[in-house]
Amino acid sequence: MSAKKFTLLIIPEGSHQVRRYSLQRSTLKGVVAVVALFCLGLTALTTDYVLANLDEAEFVRLQEENQQQRNELQRLVAGLESLQREMSLLAQNDAKVRIMAQLTRASADTEVLAGVGGPPEIDGSDSFSDLQQRIDQMRRDIDLRRESQEEIQGFLNDQRSMLSAVPEGLPAKGWLTSTFGMRTSPFTGKQKLHEGYDIAARTGTPVHVTADGVVTRSETTPGYGKLVVVDHGYGYRTYYAHNSKILVRAGQRVKRGDKLSEVGNTGRSTGSHVHYEIRRNGVPVNPKKFI
Ligand SMILES: [Zn+2]
Repeated sequence: MSAKKFTLLIIPEGSHQVRRYSLQRSTLKGVVAVVALFCLGLTALTTDYVLANLDEAEFVRLQEENQQQRNELQRLVAGLESLQREMSLLAQNDAKVRIMAQLTRASADTEVLAGVGGPPEIDGSDSFSDLQQRIDQMRRDIDLRRESQEEIQGFLNDQRSMLSAVPEGLPAKGWLTSTFGMRTSPFTGKQKLHEGYDIAARTGTPVHVTADGVVTRSETTPGYGKLVVVDHGYGYRTYYAHNSKILVRAGQRVKRGDKLSEVGNTGRSTGSHVHYEIRRNGVPVNPKKFI
């Protein structure tokens, strides 16, 4: 367009009057520039407003997310603290059991075992590294507990095997005809220590071992006749003499109550009975304490 002047015609509908505006080229340019600037400005403002709104929404969302995470962290910390309290109770219990069992340990461990001290109380500054530290500490505590429990278990097992190794009760049903102590020998007429109990019973009456152990002798001797000796460990041995029949062999493992033999009258014996003897470290002891 190279014209210098423009004419703008405005024709209202249903009217014959035509409005005519004459515009210089430069004026038109100015008008167009103003309109363009106005549009640009409007666009910029709108964009800014929309972006600001979006930022605000994102900020609120992040804030909510952050709060949620903090809440979850607090819950985790609270859960961990409750575990730590239980752990502390377990440790105290453990310490009591150890005292009862008279189990000792290095002093450094004992303090931890007693569960004194514990972690610092929760404050607002709980961080993930703090949490991690607490979890690590808990893991160490659990390892200590496990070791201690295993030790106690081992101790109880030992106790149990010791209890089952100590003679208990009488080996046969019958009548106690002679107890432990000095007596006049029915063979020599002289005073002699009777080293066990004599239980009179009919020949063939079962003889039971009075504690867990291993048969060390299953043989016939001149004095004891058919004899069974059982070693129970912890220094204990039991003797069962004058049997009519032996049912176990040397080396055989036996449990308390197992049948060893049958009552008889073999060896130096004046009637059908079982001579029952308990020896502690080789020395005959009074069975009275083991009935
Ligand atoms: Zn006897």
